[in-house]
Amino acid sequence: MALHTLVELLEMTPPGMPVMAFNYSCLEDLRGIVEAAESERTPVVIQATSTTIQHSGIHYVAALGRAAGMAAKVPVCLQLDHGHDVGMVAQAIELGFTSVMIDGSELPFDENVRLTQEVARLAHEAGVSVEAELGRIVRNDNGQSRPCVGDECLTDPDEAKLFVELTGVDALAPAVGTVHGHYRGYPIIRFDLLSAIAENAGVPLVLHGASGVPYDMLKKSVTMGIRKVNITTELYAAHADALKRALAGVWSANARDMRKASQAAVDAVRAVAVSKIRMFCY
Ligand SMILES: [Zn+2]
Repeated sequence: MALHTLVELLEMTPPGMPVMAFNYSCLEDLRGIVEAAESERTPVVIQATSTTIQHSGIHYVAALGRAAGMAAKVPVCLQLDHGHDVGMVAQAIELGFTSVMIDGSELPFDENVRLTQEVARLAHEAGVSVEAELGRIVRNDNGQSRPCVGDECLTDPDEAKLFVELTGVDALAPAVGTVHGHYRGYPIIRFDLLSAIAENAGVPLVLHGASGVPYDMLKKSVTMGIRKVNITTELYAAHADALKRALAGVWSANARDMRKASQAAVDAVRAVAVSKIRMFCY
């Protein structure tokens, strides 16, 4: 099946349902994600971050993603997640990514606008969708001790309106209290803010840092404008735990074939992805 853009996947997905987006860092992740989407008969976004690209090289990462999408029995969008510069975005587009996220959230508003405008022009000329970040969705893994709910990080609804008008992005990732990585304490989503941003932005909203967010909060966020839900941390944790168990267990004694351990990782990733998809489908 040919790869689809994020805009196409959003159009295929009924109102009230989000498009599920799962990050991959290797073949095992991809197999688990695509098998989950196929078993649940749902479109899916497979996405790779700039750190995965730095780790494995963009040619390998793109080729894996393209192969997974072409082989899948469900519609697949291949997205660059948290791209930071025009060069990486241009290369991703050249190598077949069908959606790109540009993350200029560390920049002042005007510079974020300029960077995102340039990426949007490039991507739209190539028929590729664009997601951008406004506000700053922080990462707990870097020593952040609590979710950032202060005004310094969260998205301003008026700025969201202006940002979308100026850049022409297809989807917006706002900072509404979620964080990347593991939560320390109970997750917080500022639903008042999410509602105002959804009203102002006029484009589908993306929830980053959805791993570990309870079911009722995720469901509520979808009723308030979230159309794409990103899951990474829970997949990676399941993958790592399964590998550790396989390597430490009976299998490891005289083993020479890593495929048995990697299959355990595929199974673990698939189970998490299925559970996340079913949160919204049933
Ligand atoms: Zn993210």
